[in-house]
Amino acid sequence: MNFSDFLAGKLLLPQEIPLSTATISYLHRTNQIKKHPSIEQKYNRYQCLRCGNRKQSLFANLPCARCQSQHLYCRNCIATGRVLACEHLTTWTGDPPKWPKQVNPCNWKGTLTKHQQLAAETLKKALASHQAEQLVWAVCGSGKTEMLFPVIELAIKENRRLCIATPRADVVRELFPRIKQSFPQTETEALYADSPDRTEIGQLVISTTHQLIRYQEAFDLMIIDEIDAFPFHHDPTLPFLSNRACKEDATKIYLTATPRPSQQKQISKKKLPTIFVPIRYHGHPLPIPQLQIEWNLRKKLKRGNQPNTLQHFINKRTNQRQLLIFVPSIALLEKVATLLKAESVHAGDPKRKEKVIDFRQKKIDVLITTTILERGVTFPSVDVVVLDAGHKVFDEAALVQIAGRAGRSPDDPTGEVVLIHQGKTTAIEQAITQIKMMNKKGMKL
Ligand SMILES: [Zn+2]
Repeated sequence: MNFSDFLAGKLLLPQEIPLSTATISYLHRTNQIKKHPSIEQKYNRYQCLRCGNRKQSLFANLPCARCQSQHLYCRNCIATGRVLACEHLTTWTGDPPKWPKQVNPCNWKGTLTKHQQLAAETLKKALASHQAEQLVWAVCGSGKTEMLFPVIELAIKENRRLCIATPRADVVRELFPRIKQSFPQTETEALYADSPDRTEIGQLVISTTHQLIRYQEAFDLMIIDEIDAFPFHHDPTLPFLSNRACKEDATKIYLTATPRPSQQKQISKKKLPTIFVPIRYHGHPLPIPQLQIEWNLRKKLKRGNQPNTLQHFINKRTNQRQLLIFVPSIALLEKVATLLKAESVHAGDPKRKEKVIDFRQKKIDVLITTTILERGVTFPSVDVVVLDAGHKVFDEAALVQIAGRAGRSPDDPTGEVVLIHQGKTTAIEQAITQIKMMNKKGMKL
């Protein structure tokens, strides 16, 4: 094995290095690896140098077999391996890895729409000029993966190492075969818990943000998909890890269909270079949600009574589309499923995968779901209802994403989106404003 291919750009626990003690001490003696403290103490406060954790409550003591005493360990990063204070983290300081030279790495034969092309060119320019950050605000259904191909191709041609990171493992699973097929000669690996496609020597790494815990100064190009999605915007560890995984002069590309308010503020103050892709790849605007108010909606739902607005909507439907109904909780999911005699799905559902496939294959007509289907899933022809759209789980981003499930196919580019609520919330208003704003931008182009 070539040590540099395996160790370069990593930050590893002792148990993560598959080399003999003799080899490790040889590499250390010849200055090819460097050892770093793992948990640091400053002014009586601890910091985990593996995951960046500074929350003191997340440090605990453990008897250490080797030192015969108690040692601190970090509970924040325990899911990806235990770091003990008496152990070192190792980095590679030898020669950098050499990636094979490629003239034509991209095998994808499709064509980009005008708007995708524009975004793709912007991303290439950002990489070529070592621009630190670039945001792509692309509406649901704009075809963002294809937009990335030109910048990925450029990075590979220039012998750079790159990473596509996403908060969600199912996105890694979905992206990996598509990217591998489009860049067949490039050493590509997929990282998520128990991933079978882990080679440890990827030039192109597709990873969950959690798995970046084993990287430091590895990548020249970091593409972070869905920066607004849970848990990326929620857990400070994840931005810490994705920043550390980048080389100093790396370019970071952020993708989102629904930036969080703090990100929107940065965009409007022009602190974050942003390119908009306000139109779907099929060229049609986003469906604008219709609002339906129902007094005592929550009471009715709690009692298991059918809300009039929902009944009315279902009765008057004449189209052939399937129906997706979003509800805010599992308790309500079961009530509504019984009421409508329909299938339902939630995060802990053991048949989750099968049900989603059945719905996609149109074996199920109506599917009641929690927010698990709010993003990342494409059904060609659906109408969408959100029951109790004023509930706090439906924030602005969630509502825009949910509305984005409708009208995905060029054969049926419209679709109804109905928000049933018992009082309009700021999130509902902001979601509609955001959708209208993107449609207006799309019209202008
Ligand atoms: Zn930690």
